[in-house]
Amino acid sequence: MADPTDAPEPKPQRPQVDRKARFQIPPYRPSKQPPDERIKNFDEVYHLFAGDIARIEAERCIQCPAAPCQKACPVHNDIPGALWLLEQGDFNGAANIFRETSELPEMCGRLCPQERLCEGHCVVGKNALPVAIGKLETFTTEWQHANGGLPVITLPASSGKHVAVIGSGPAGIGVAERLVKHGHHVVIFEAWPKPGGILRYGIPNFKQNKAAVDRKFEELAALGVEVRCGVRVGDHISWEQVRREFDAVFVGVGASEGSRLNIPNEDAPGVISATDFLVRANLPPKDLPKEMREPLGAPRRVVVIGGGDTSMDCVRSARRLGAEEVTLVYRRTEAEMQGRVEERTHAQEEGVRFEYLASPVEVLVDGEGAVAGLRCVRMRLGEPDDTGRARPEPVPGSEFEIPAEMLVLAIGYNVDPEWGEIVPALTRDRWDRLVVDPDTMQTNLPGVFAGGDDVNGADLVVTALADAHRAADAIEAYLRTVIRQPDGEPRKLIGDSSLLG
Ligand SMILES: Cc1cc2nc3c(=O)[nH]c(=O)nc-3n(C[C@H](O)[C@H](O)[C@H](O)COP(=O)(O)OP(=O)(O)OC[C@H]3O[C@@H](n4cnc5c(N)ncnc54)[C@H](O)[C@@H]3O)c2cc1C
Repeated sequence: MADPTDAPEPKPQRPQVDRKARFQIPPYRPSKQPPDERIKNFDEVYHLFAGDIARIEAERCIQCPAAPCQKACPVHNDIPGALWLLEQGDFNGAANIFRETSELPEMCGRLCPQERLCEGHCVVGKNALPVAIGKLETFTTEWQHANGGLPVITLPASSGKHVAVIGSGPAGIGVAERLVKHGHHVVIFEAWPKPGGILRYGIPNFKQNKAAVDRKFEELAALGVEVRCGVRVGDHISWEQVRREFDAVFVGVGASEGSRLNIPNEDAPGVISATDFLVRANLPPKDLPKEMREPLGAPRRVVVIGGGDTSMDCVRSARRLGAEEVTLVYRRTEAEMQGRVEERTHAQEEGVRFEYLASPVEVLVDGEGAVAGLRCVRMRLGEPDDTGRARPEPVPGSEFEIPAEMLVLAIGYNVDPEWGEIVPALTRDRWDRLVVDPDTMQTNLPGVFAGGDDVNGADLVVTALADAHRAADAIEAYLRTVIRQPDGEPRKLIGDSSLLG
């Protein structure tokens, strides 16, 4: 029989609130660094909410029983529950509610496209600014760190089972944290010198500070998760060895292969991929592999090609590196852009020039073959394509040039096709994404699970976490079917071992 003292504490009942009165509360947002100041540093743009202001903003939540915000959140945070505690002044309790369903609430608060997730479904937002759910999530969870820290977790006895997690991005973090809390021994293999995936090697410091990433891995280490950095599976350790030494494997290797334009002179010196640009702009050389430590220099004019979050990160990093003229080239209009509105607004405030309905046709080079600019053609919007967005078409005879010393390619990411060589038996689709059962995230190989960008294609932190939750539940169930031999002996799986990839 279950021990009643193990049962979670009942959540406080929430009385019905006076909705009409709450609709009258004016919205608050945290303050930000002014644009002319913030382009001189890489610090986060937003300051944290002050506690008393956060309480007022949380009180704008009308506590709708249907909680559309919670439904729209890929990890289903109990947002009304957290905001109720927040408005009562129980910041710690509110943070704990966010932590029940998310391993990265500090990051999700800062990075999620809330306008199309929780805040986009906030009922208050129908007639006014929605409740600032993301900023409140960041406030409570950061407040908790600064005031006593996270709740102490008692781990169960060791299960004796070993799980390998390949990749230390959000998907790997989510799986590792959930499984270590079940008593399993978890080892994360990470190819970069430091852990965090795109949270460290991609997202700039002005959106998400790196100290929070370091702190996350300190927490995981305290729980017993082992992280082996600088270890690329398929290179420094073979897939077969990982399969032999671990009872289950989670593959969370992301989508790191930058797309190319396929236009003349694309390999000229001065053309750089978004990842290469962002990691060198945002990280100290010691955190980079040796071949990436060359400084970026100080280009005066930078053109960034692309229209998503990555391109906004690039233009804004370029401004912070001192570039005077930064132009974003995008082949559709602002209405078709898929990234966060907030980031676009920040880029505009920071003096970035947006060249909409323009598509690159040739990289211009100087006498020494280095980048001198970009030739573009004007576009117009035609019929919708298979994504439902208007298809851009070139306008004949409309070519124009933009002078620049550096061109950054931020036109999307794909899954690295190397997984076809590392594990030929792993089923992939025509875009090299790993194919999984969507309920369990299990691949076609028994005991091998996957999730995050390597399954979805380039997506979001929170969707990687949602995958991680399904995968961790399924791995936990799967591990119950694994027979352990006495220590030192090879493990044996129930079922058909000829299927092992
Ligand atoms: C510049 C940029 C900005 C972004 N901004 C946002 C944002 O504002 N909000 C948002 O929600 N999302 C954003 N995203 C997307 C988000 O970061 C990703 O969707 C998320 O990180 C995916 O998590 P993941 O764990 O699947 O993969 P990743 O974070 O990519 O982690 C995968 C890890 O696997 C490692 N790896 C790969 N191969 C191997 C191997 N063979 N052996 C060992 N390790 C390996 C990689 O080195 C990497 O560290 C952004 C992405 C980029 C590129």
